[in-house]
Formats: sequence, C-alpha cells, structure tokens
Amino acid sequence: MQTQFSKFQLADPLMAASEDVIRKCVHCGFCLATCPTYVLLGDELDSPRGRIYLIKDMLENERAPTADVVTHIDRCLSCLSCMTTCPSDVNYMRLIDHARNYVENNYRRPLSERCLRTFLSFILPYPRRFRAVLKLGSLFKFMAVLPLPQRLRAMLQLAPAHLPSPASMSSAAAGKQSRRGRVILFKGCVESVLAPQIRDASVRLLNRAGFDVVFSESEGCCGALVHHMGKHTQACAFAKRNVDAWLAECDSQAGLDAIVITASGCGSVIKDYEALLGNDPVYAPKWARLAPLVKDISEFLAQAGLPRATNILNQTVAYQAACSLKHGQKLDQEPKQLLREAGFQLREPDEAHLCCGSAGTYNILQPEIAASLRERKLQRLMATGADIIASGNIGCMTQLANDAGLAVVHVVELLDWAHGGVEPAQILKQKS
Ligand code: SF4
Ligand code: SF4
Repeated sequence: MQTQFSKFQLADPLMAASEDVIRKCVHCGFCLATCPTYVLLGDELDSPRGRIYLIKDMLENERAPTADVVTHIDRCLSCLSCMTTCPSDVNYMRLIDHARNYVENNYRRPLSERCLRTFLSFILPYPRRFRAVLKLGSLFKFMAVLPLPQRLRAMLQLAPAHLPSPASMSSAAAGKQSRRGRVILFKGCVESVLAPQIRDASVRLLNRAGFDVVFSESEGCCGALVHHMGKHTQACAFAKRNVDAWLAECDSQAGLDAIVITASGCGSVIKDYEALLGNDPVYAPKWARLAPLVKDISEFLAQAGLPRATNILNQTVAYQAACSLKHGQKLDQEPKQLLREAGFQLREPDEAHLCCGSAGTYNILQPEIAASLRERKLQRLMATGADIIASGNIGCMTQLANDAGLAVVHVVELLDWAHGGVEPAQILKQKS
C-alpha cells in the first residue's frame, strides 16, 4: 500500500513502524475470509484490509478519530488470525495496537464508555480487587437473566457462581531439587483468581519434568488488558515492573532457565514486550536478556519432555486453540502433541482458526459479537462429540464454560491428571 507520511511524522518511531506495516499490505484480501468480524458482519471495514485503510487514513492525515472509525477499530478482536493468513507478513498486531493508543489519546468516548474502561483497567489487573468484585458479581449473578444493559449482563454472565479458593502452591512447596533447572511460573492476575488449579497443576507437571518452580513476588499483571484498550503508558509500567522482578531472579545465585506462562493471552503480549520497551534505553537491553526465556507452558513442556503418563484415561478431548497461542505465538502443535502423548484422543473442531469471542475484555466491551462467536465456537466444539473441552488460555475457558454442556479445562489440568495428579474439578462436577 502506498503511503505519504511526512519526514516529520516518520521521526516518531511508532509512526515509522506503522508506516512500514502499512506499506507491506498488497490489498490481496486473503485475510478477509479468516477474520471473525468480517465473517460475521460482512463489512469490508470490519476486515483487516478495511481497518488498515482506516488506520492509514487516520494516522497519515493525523485526523481526529471519528465515532465510525473507532467502532471498526473497537470491533477488532486482536485475534491475529489475519496475521496467520497474510502472505505479505503484515504485522497487523503492531498496527492495531498503535491505532488503539492513537484513539485513546485523540478521541473522547461517551461518559459511560470511559467509566467502564477505567473500571476494567482499575480492577482486572489486580487480583485482590478482581476477587472482591467477582464476589459481589456472584451474589448478583441471578440478575443476568433480567433485561439489564448488555455490558452489565455480560459481566454478570461471566462471573463464576462460586469463586475458587486461592492457589495453594507457594515457592516453598514448588520443589527445591534442581535436577534440570529452575523456572519462574508467571502468576498472572485473572487466571490466578478464576482458576487457581491451573497453577497447582503446572507446578506438579514442571516438578515431574525435573524443574524447580519459583514465584516472583514482585511481578504483576502482564499489561495485556490495558494494552488492548490502548493504554500504552499503563502497559509499559506493567512491563517494566515485570522485567525488574524477573531480572532479579535471573541474576540470583540460583539462576533462571525459563519464565513459564500458562495464560496464552499474557504470553503473546509478554513475548512482544519489545513493542512496549524497544525504544526505552534503560529497559530495552534488560528485556533483550529475558526475551529468550519466555515460554508458553506447552512450548516448554514439549521441549523439556515429560515422563511417560501413568494414568491412561480413555477420554476424547476437543481442543480449543486459543488465538493468542495459535496465531499470536504460532504454537499449535505443541499442546496437541502433549495431549496425544498423555493418551487423550484428540478431536479438532471445524473453524479452529476463528476466535471464540473472549479476547481479553472484548466479551464485555462488545458483548453482541462476542456472544455470536461463542455460540458458533461451541457448536463446532460440541459437534466433535468429545467428552471434554481443553484450551491453553483462561479467557477461552471463561468464555466457553458458562454455556458448554461439557467440562472446560486447561490443557495442563489434563496432563497433570494423566501424570498422576488430581482429576480436574470441572470433570468431577460434570460426572456428579
Ligand atoms: S485481529 Fe482478528 S478481528 Fe482483528 S482484523 Fe485480524 S482477524 Fe480480524
Ligand atoms: S492478507 Fe495481508 S497483504 Fe493481503 S490484504 Fe490482508 S493484510 Fe493486506
């Protein structure tokens, strides 16, 4: 795509990076068929190519975003399915992130929208606050059937009926035998509150694979939730805090072999901290030391290897490929291979490339589109005839759990079960 950015504009590294992305797009349109919003809405402006045009026009002419342009940008799930399809290597992720930040800085949203976004960015990245709000949400969950405003209803529907107890694993309990190495297990924010059993299962698996696990007490949210709302400064602050926390472990006497992530939505943003810190003279070199250590847990376990499964379970599993894992991190085979090696019979749904509609806060901010995508995804997953649904991301699990007739669990919960760990509570609940 031809561009006409001025030299002055291109002196801004963010603008120069976006210009580079835009120029790579050759208008071929291959990405349209794999874009969930284009598939649902059929509007070119809700496709990757259409959004690239809109963003180019907005950035190049330094236009104030219009409500219409903001609507099309907001409808993007950041699922990155378009990046998997694109033959020209267009880094759409960097472009949409820049556009979101531009909108955040140059567009005044309606008051209710501003309040909701501020509320989400004040609550979700902080486990204690999130837990307190969820407790309140579970008390009022029954109201989700009432004709409330859509976004409020979406939040009540997503709140669990019962909040699980916090994860029981501590660093002290996570193994100190150091046979093969030592890893940080990233605690995250949303996952640790909604599904603490994922952390416990991960620790047991990593210990079985021969690794000591440590938790970094001073790390925080990965920054994904605010990053996808265009809050660049806040996202950078989270990234810097984590880099400092992890470097302290890395430079400790015990050393560090990996930073393992169990929520692929966090992992895809952390692996791209370069986008947040790459122009920071202090943090860019710090991040460069850590970047090779960051691994999704499926990637880490597939590379490290697990002992032979001890508990062969005759279960069929429908694998829900999280977009952040499949498209964001290009890790599609690893979780499937681990499940097969552990003895599960794997079934893959049709349209595995399409998002389930979770996408961070998308299912709250765009509840209608998110609900259509959830319904479509569940139909495809149920059609596999599997006993269980497994995914590698808490976002997908929460999005699908409420309406699935099947147990929805994390891949590591199944692996842990097959390797002598506990049977996942969701599966036990389904049986009872
Ligand atoms: S990130 Fe997903 S929703 Fe957004 S344009 Fe690409 S394919 Fe479409
Ligand atoms: S597939 Fe890539 S090059 Fe083709 S229109 Fe989409 S973004 Fe542009």
